[in-house]
Amino acid sequence: MSRKYDLVCFDLDGTLIQGTIFIWQTLHDAFGTDAGRRQRAKDDFHAGRITYQQWFDHDLVLLGEANATRERMVAALDAIHPTPGAAETLATLRTAGMHLAIISGSIDLVLEQFFGLAAFDEVLINRLDFDDDGRLVGGTHTDFDVDRKGAGVLEIARRLGVDVARTAFVGDNYNDVSAARTAGLSIAFNPRSEELTEAVHEVVTGDDLRGILPHLL
Ligand SMILES: [Mg+2]
Repeated sequence: MSRKYDLVCFDLDGTLIQGTIFIWQTLHDAFGTDAGRRQRAKDDFHAGRITYQQWFDHDLVLLGEANATRERMVAALDAIHPTPGAAETLATLRTAGMHLAIISGSIDLVLEQFFGLAAFDEVLINRLDFDDDGRLVGGTHTDFDVDRKGAGVLEIARRLGVDVARTAFVGDNYNDVSAARTAGLSIAFNPRSEELTEAVHEVVTGDDLRGILPHLL
């Protein structure tokens, strides 16, 4: 099957995996962190009072205080599963010769758990560090979330030598709008955000991610 695009960038939470809207929220809920402090940091970030780095660091402090370990974080993902048809979708795009990438504000541990990092040519995502006993000891935040996801599309296209017009992006929520406005083709998969629905070229609804394939091949 011939391809219409050379690179497809995916959001993770709510797009390639289901059972969560944002994995950070799922983890905070599982570890019972202080909802007030968590909400204040989120509000402060979206109001521009703190940086993404400060928001990320704050999240790690809350999870660290709740004794988050790698093992306990993986256990907290038990209600999460790949979107039906996701593996087949990725394999089909790969067979058609397309590059695959992740641009996500989720966490590397989650991607590893369900798809493996090797399934993608480029991965822009938050990374967590654990010590030898599996305790959460720090991490490295992504530079490409929310308003910077569009810059992530440009960055990956540059790294892979792909014309931006030949890039596609698939996401589900308000934090995907900048990427949707940047990619040559943007698809909202079961969108949860009116703003995203208005920003994209195509909307695909349904239980199976393979619904996006006719737009890409
Ligand atoms: Mg999402």
